[in-house]
Amino acid sequence: MSRVILMLGFIVLTSCSTLRDSSSPSPALYVFDCGKLYFSDVTSFGLTNQETAVRDLFVPCYLIRHKDGMLFWDAGLSLDVVGQGDVALQPGTTMSYDRSVLDQLGDLGVQPSDVDFIALSHMHFDHAGAANAFTGATLLIQKTEYEAAFTPADENPIFDPSLYSELANNETRLLNGDHDVFGDGSVRILSAPGHTPGHQVLFLDLDDYGPLVLSGDLYHFRASRTLRRTPEFNTDAMQTLKSMDKIEAFLKQSGATLWIEHDKALADTLELAPAFYK
Ligand SMILES: [Zn+2]
Repeated sequence: MSRVILMLGFIVLTSCSTLRDSSSPSPALYVFDCGKLYFSDVTSFGLTNQETAVRDLFVPCYLIRHKDGMLFWDAGLSLDVVGQGDVALQPGTTMSYDRSVLDQLGDLGVQPSDVDFIALSHMHFDHAGAANAFTGATLLIQKTEYEAAFTPADENPIFDPSLYSELANNETRLLNGDHDVFGDGSVRILSAPGHTPGHQVLFLDLDDYGPLVLSGDLYHFRASRTLRRTPEFNTDAMQTLKSMDKIEAFLKQSGATLWIEHDKALADTLELAPAFYK
């Protein structure tokens, strides 16, 4: 039986300090290569093919190790793609995935059953690929996303319920806004709806690297950020623009760096697991 706890939403943006309790050790962030996407045409992202030269997108997964537990954030492409080379998704779009994130976690001595929390920025297929392996983790999801994903999701072609259907039985916390995962301010989910009904981003307060926000799909490209563009496959463009305003204000106030998760040029500069950021 799933146990669903309705969490009252709260706004941390203005009411809380952005810095965590300084007595608490920094969490550690591991970045995994969970696939690549190639688009010959990027107009579905709300950009012309002249506005960005980027056609390759990185698909990440992340593990956050905190003294009180582990959070897995975004679950990459489907594990069925692993080792298949370039797999056609639709004309002009391919995906590839070299090594399962479950094997990459295994390199760290981590099994999915060791993970306490799973949260996805949203439930689109390229963020949910390994989700079904995390049935023992507490699912942290906005109530609006849960409703979109678990009630007739078949109508939305970007949701692939087969990738996350096992999570329906997980212990689940339905969120209604921002959420401090471990209660010390160091790992915080920030609600940023619009791309999907319950899209969210992740704030991490890291000692050495500094404060960091993982974008989810608030932006897909750097040009999406500078030009404030929303994709065609978006639930609510106005809501997305409001979420961009919210997160940009948060970045300014907190001094956090933003990692656009799909930014392959950024990913090429990052140290992947077993290296970590703290
Ligand atoms: Zn995505």
